[in-house]
Order: sequence, then structure tokens, then C-alpha cells
Amino acid sequence: MAKCAKRQIAHLDGYVAALSETDRALVNRIYHVQTAVGGLAVPPSMQAWVESTFGDLGAVRTQHVVKVTNLITMEGALFNPLRGVRPIDLWPEVDVCAAIEQTRGGPFCHPESLTPEDIFAEGLPGRVRGKYCITASNIAKYDGYHGLVIFDEHNPLEISSERVRDYIDTALRWAKRAHNADRSAKYFFLMWNCLWKGGASIVHGHMQVALGRGMHYARVEHWRRQALLYRLAHGENYFDDLYRVHEALGLATTIGETRAVVSLTPVKEKEILLISPTCWIDNDDCKEALGSILQTYTGAMGVQSFNLALYQRPIDVAEEDWDGFPAVVRLVDRGDLNVRTTDVGCMELYGSSVITTDPFDVIDAIRSQRDPLA
Ligand SMILES: [Zn+2]
Repeated sequence: MAKCAKRQIAHLDGYVAALSETDRALVNRIYHVQTAVGGLAVPPSMQAWVESTFGDLGAVRTQHVVKVTNLITMEGALFNPLRGVRPIDLWPEVDVCAAIEQTRGGPFCHPESLTPEDIFAEGLPGRVRGKYCITASNIAKYDGYHGLVIFDEHNPLEISSERVRDYIDTALRWAKRAHNADRSAKYFFLMWNCLWKGGASIVHGHMQVALGRGMHYARVEHWRRQALLYRLAHGENYFDDLYRVHEALGLATTIGETRAVVSLTPVKEKEILLISPTCWIDNDDCKEALGSILQTYTGAMGVQSFNLALYQRPIDVAEEDWDGFPAVVRLVDRGDLNVRTTDVGCMELYGSSVITTDPFDVIDAIRSQRDPLA
């Protein structure tokens, strides 16, 4: 897309209207886009406070909320950047670096002696070792095979492409080993809860790995079924069309052969989807792209706490149709480590996600890190 004036999510419906007929039809096939206007009256006694808090009295008096619903997966987002500057009660300032350092020396700093081992086959305990990590068994499991990839670096925000590649390779080797021990366990799920806002109970850097039986985890299976129905209805690959829609609107780019999409219906702030050129994330291109994105995320974009999940087909696809389902990494910002409130409330659990970050700011950050002259 040619360089143009700064885009804003507030004008999404205008961008859709300006697309070619083909692209517009594709957007409307996948998304329902709507703008709601909310008005309020600010009493004179509040005006000074509103101006100092929000900067612009007019933007508070008349608010534009962009509502996007994915008609295929029924994921929804309500965008109002104004909510990002609303007052929130804070903890007393937390020194994040000090908080991370205070936990140094805990069990994950000594995984071989202070974490349990998985039992892979014939009752034999074992670990998978990478260059920068080692696996352990999760002490309180949520599936039969549920392990950890424990980094040799305590601080989870010390991220490099080489390390990320090694963590993923080690996780994949763990999955193969578990699958070899039990051929019916084949649905691999990789996740990384980074720091306490991301739900991590241990500060020390680690990912979690699970290998399920019978059916993939619910949200992955939901995507598979919806993509299958999409192909039956339209004869096209849902993930290809999802990328095309975001590309047409200026919300996608490529990193090598890997597609990076800033989601129009993010589960929460700054959600990025990395769509692998292959159906399994054992290719260097996608691992390299992920390392690069994570460095941008925690560097230029200032993200401190995040969730990362890998959606991909099972190791053995004999009984289900996974045709055309790529490996997809989902990455989401979980917010400021100083903020007392959780970022997930009733709307996120039971309605649509309420989003303050403009997706166009996210794609700009990705592009400017990759091409500083852009
Ligand atoms: Zn540690």
C-alpha cells in the first residue's frame, strides 16, 4: 500500500468504502463494521478536569466507537481510543526490574533439582534440553501431557531471535517425544504467559506446552470448523482471505514468507497474528519472524506483559480435515504491570472485547522497526 496520511481506526468504515469492489465484498464477507456515536454533557464543574485528563472536551462530548465483528468466527471488538486515557486507580509505582530481580534464585533458576520431570514412556522420567532452555513437568496439570519450557535466562523480557527459535524447537521436540510415548496424544498447544498481568504465576521466563487427545483445544477447534465452513461456502481458504482483507486495509505486512496481521477483532490490546507459510511451525522463517516481532513488541512498543499462543494442526491429521489450516501465532499485550485493574472484564468474557489501541498504530510500529525510513 502506498504511503498516505496517518490512518485511524475511527475512519475504518470510510477506508472500507474506498476499497475496490472485490476487496470491499471480501471485507463485508468476513466483517461487520459499524460506528456508534455516544454523546454526553459535561457540567461546568467538570470541564477543567476533563480537559486535563482527556485533552479535548469535544472528543469526550461526542465519542465515536468503531464496532467490528468477525462474521465467520464471531469474535468482536469495540474500539474507542479515548478509553486508553481514562483514569484508573494505580498500585503504588512498581519497579518492574526490581520485582523481576527479587525473584531471581527461585526454583526455575535451578530446574534440574527444583522442578519435576515428565514421564514420557515406560515410567521413565526425562527432560528435553535446548541450547537456552530445558523442559520440566507442570506440577499442577491441565492435561495429561502438560510441561514447561524453562528458559536459562531468569528475566522473561530478555528476548532474542536465537533464544525464541531454541525455545520453539525444544517445545516441538517435547511434543514429538510425548507423541512417541502415546500416539493418541497429538494436539499440541504452545503458550507463553509473560509476567503477572499475563497470568504467569512464576516470574522466571518460561513457556507451557500441552499435548491433548481426542480433540484440539476449544478455540483452535472452533477456528478449524469455521474455516472449513468458509471453504464450503466460498471455495476459498479463510486464512488467505483474512490476510487479503487486512492487507487491503493496510493492516498486514510480511516478514520473510510469514504474514503478520494486526487483527481487526483483537482479543485484547495490540493483537498480532503471525501466519506461517507452512502448516507446522518447524520452519525457520516463522520462528525468525516471531523473534523479530517479540523484540519490537517488548522494545519499541513498550509491552511488558503478554500472552502468546500457537494454533496448529495436530501431529496426526488422519481423522479430521485440517487442510489449509496454517500454523498461527497469536500475540496479545496484557497491559501495564503497574495497573491494578485487570484488562479483562464482563465485556471481554461475555460480550465483545473493548480495545483502546489503534491497530493502525500497531502496524506502523511493526513497519517502522523493519524499515526505519518508511
Ligand atoms: Zn529464575
